[in-house]
Amino acid sequence: MILPKAARLQPSQVEELSRIVETFGCRIQPIVGAVRTIYAIVGDERDELMIARLEGLDYVDRVDTIQSPHKLMDRRSDLASHRIRLGGVTVGEELCVIAGQCTIDPKNPNYFYETAAAVKEAGATALRGGVWKPRTNPYSYQGDSKALDILMEGHRRTGLPVDAEVMDETQLQLALDAGVHTLQVGARNALNYSLLRAIGKAVAHRDTVVLLKRSLHMGPINEFISAAEYIAAFGNPNILLCPRGTAPALDGYRNHPDESITPLLKEKTWAPVIVDPSHSVGKATYVPACALAAVAYGADGLCIEAHVEPAKGIGDDPKQALTPEVLAKLIRQARALWSLRRSTS
Ligand code: PEP
Ligand code: MN
Repeated sequence: MILPKAARLQPSQVEELSRIVETFGCRIQPIVGAVRTIYAIVGDERDELMIARLEGLDYVDRVDTIQSPHKLMDRRSDLASHRIRLGGVTVGEELCVIAGQCTIDPKNPNYFYETAAAVKEAGATALRGGVWKPRTNPYSYQGDSKALDILMEGHRRTGLPVDAEVMDETQLQLALDAGVHTLQVGARNALNYSLLRAIGKAVAHRDTVVLLKRSLHMGPINEFISAAEYIAAFGNPNILLCPRGTAPALDGYRNHPDESITPLLKEKTWAPVIVDPSHSVGKATYVPACALAAVAYGADGLCIEAHVEPAKGIGDDPKQALTPEVLAKLIRQARALWSLRRSTS
């Protein structure tokens, strides 16, 4: 739909619009109103170059496209009936919880094994453990491939599927070779299109799930869904969308909590929403409330940092990891709220 700056266009301007859209297999249909005429684009109006050429005309105010740019991720796309399995669970059929350490400490693997057992005991669906870490400070611990063996041992001991972040194609290959079940794309890489493409390609035709975090600096919601579209377009539709707070932070929190975008995401895409309250608020005492708010907003799951002894952890764990007792209570409450929401919606 083309909205002109003036109440209606001159015939020569309509001709120019027609010439442009015809190159892309579309035509113009004027819709004449009492005070204003607008111009519908009839045909497939998703071509970005066509939109850019129209937006570049000085008599055009704006172009609103009705068709979604997300051929695969749109809620009305052919993929809308696609279901994602995480462990033994079909996401959406029960509240999924991915829990575990921010960062695996390769010098103290027993903390991870104890955390893994506690996470399972608390009723989580999957186990998380950071192997390679995106650290703001280059002198902070950056991760270690040895932690990958510890992560997989955590899987063998608990039977839970495991989640780890990969930041480049080398790590991606190592994680796939080791059998990591869920590849996490972190907030810093959510707009790294070559990595998204590589992940989509590498995991094509496999059951691997991708947990795509929302970038700290993502603007419109379509930017988030487009990042998912990259992964799907290159071969893997098993994508979980993970709001985790954005910048700038709300005073006192680590980020600006964004669990409230869940209903908007659900309106636009079929992809399940797994909210990460840990990075959103960044402090263990605030995490349960943020997690329950996410469930109330309609999230399909949660990704939560937990540690048997947070104070002994590395990475984010001393600040934001839940103890097993708090995690177990939160999972009980979150599942009760999820069921209540289900029964009343
Ligand atoms: C993490 O999950 O530990 C992490 C670094 O997350 P994010 O990419 O959301 O900051
Ligand atoms: Mn973390």
